[in-house]
Amino acid sequence: MTKSFSEDTLILNALSPGITSMTAVYSALTLFTNLKKDGDTSSRFNIIFFQEDGPNYLENFTLNPEYIIMALKSLEPAIVKGNVGGGIFLGIAILIDVFKKISEKSFRLIILTDSGTPKISKLYLPVLETMIDQIKNMPFFMDIIRIDIEDLEEDTKLMKLAGICNGSIYRINNVDSLPSILEILALKREVSSETKYNSKQISIPKENQQFYINLAEYPIELTRPETCSICGLKDYNAMVKCPNCGIVAHKICWALWTEESTIGIPHIFRCHNCYNLIKLEKDFIEKVKLAKKVKEAQILPQKNILDIKEYLESLETQDGPKIVHIHDPMGIPSEEFIEEGYNFNENREEEIATEDGEEVRFILCPHCFKMITNQYKRCPNCHRILKN
Ligand SMILES: [Zn+2]
Ligand SMILES: [Zn+2]
Ligand SMILES: [Zn+2]
Repeated sequence: MTKSFSEDTLILNALSPGITSMTAVYSALTLFTNLKKDGDTSSRFNIIFFQEDGPNYLENFTLNPEYIIMALKSLEPAIVKGNVGGGIFLGIAILIDVFKKISEKSFRLIILTDSGTPKISKLYLPVLETMIDQIKNMPFFMDIIRIDIEDLEEDTKLMKLAGICNGSIYRINNVDSLPSILEILALKREVSSETKYNSKQISIPKENQQFYINLAEYPIELTRPETCSICGLKDYNAMVKCPNCGIVAHKICWALWTEESTIGIPHIFRCHNCYNLIKLEKDFIEKVKLAKKVKEAQILPQKNILDIKEYLESLETQDGPKIVHIHDPMGIPSEEFIEEGYNFNENREEEIATEDGEEVRFILCPHCFKMITNQYKRCPNCHRILKN
């Protein structure tokens, strides 16, 4: 069985201003966003575009696509061609952040490239493949539009990346064909909803489950008497609260609630008040469910999850989202730097673990899933040990 979700679309603009007319891009993007809004009013948008010293994006996805065009226009003279590899990393990081807080969405990354767009460094590829494979279950789709580019080798590279998440490459001769491609891409992507847990989510294969388990947070344990937001009883014992919105519930009530809002892994679920991704111990949930079967449960989750459309509207700010500028796309050197013999060791933050002559590679930290190089003994992000 297939179905589709409301979509959050992130446009990655890696076009070169001297080569592709931005005016044509604005009208194509306006057509695209209008089609998406016509199809589903809860469609949201964001954009990544580059200045000389790093990328920009909107701090939040927005229901109002005019903010995308306004952001581009406001910085147009300073826009430069984009580092696609770094842009994909940044895009994935932005989307993972939204996934942790919002339910019932598909995530789309649409990449615009032309003949001035730099190639993706080979150093990026293995870790990009791993990341895309892991987030494809959110669900995530990446499509790449290539305007007037003759480069079979780069096409093959990009095709492989897009293929991991059921995405495609679209090759066009000039920007005039951009609207017709975006018209196709404005259609929602279908996902298979065959899962034994919850029809609102797709199933997550075993090998990718650890990634989602690590994204989820444990609720905070409380010691003072509080009222449970699920069963309505005031209690001293085993009360926990959501680390994001602070809503309080019995741990056991939340364990029973998991079936209603699991993401496809039984002990990973969403808060009924704010959609935050939460986890409880696997054993605890199994015990609670077993007890429920043996004896009729005294406590049943009465609370319905809040309406996603109303929730998305409540997140919009009156003046629109701010433009965020970061200096270095994920601290990753571009192809040019690598070819000129960029010295990774000068940028180290922790002990270096690579032996002389060992090739420096990008890896994902197995604990926090941040992208790092293989030269660290401890992860510079979560500080856990990577190797002896
Ligand atoms: Zn309760
Ligand atoms: Zn919450
Ligand atoms: Zn880490």
